[in-house]
Amino acid sequence: MPAMQLDIVLWPHPVLLQGTQRIDAVDDELRQIVGEMRRVMFELRGVGLAAPQVGIARRLMLVCPSGEPGDEEVVINPEILDAEGREVGEEGCLSVPGLYGQVPRAQTVRVRYRDLDFREREMVLTGFVARVFLHELDHLDGQVFIDRMVPESRAKIEAGLDVLKQQFEAQAS
Ligand code: ZN
Repeated sequence: MPAMQLDIVLWPHPVLLQGTQRIDAVDDELRQIVGEMRRVMFELRGVGLAAPQVGIARRLMLVCPSGEPGDEEVVINPEILDAEGREVGEEGCLSVPGLYGQVPRAQTVRVRYRDLDFREREMVLTGFVARVFLHELDHLDGQVFIDRMVPESRAKIEAGLDVLKQQFEAQAS
């Protein structure tokens, strides 16, 4: 089997907007996808990456709030069990390069997911870690942070979004 090579997918590619399928088991293909996601995330200096961002419509994401290789968590089939509080903070996205804005998120979340050994984990996340987790989980549901931004932030990036749309259309045609 040739080595798998995945690349970052930019908004508004449809794979970012369509939602994803649950994962039934961890196999060699899934481990290869995780390896490629790690490479892409650290090359682009991200703190998280969801599978649709490399063109894979499955419920898989990496969360690495420190940005340090080795600190990343592999998160499969994530669910939110409880959410509390609200906090507005700045976000960006590797699929929406160069554009940032203020996004409201829950402050604390209780989450359940499976790790790369397919073991179930449950934990409470708060602050920036919760924010990264929720941003990546949105990607699995076909949602992008630009649609959750406060209106003043969104207004400031409309021109930048138009440029991304034009670039996508030019590439697609
Ligand atoms: Zn993102």
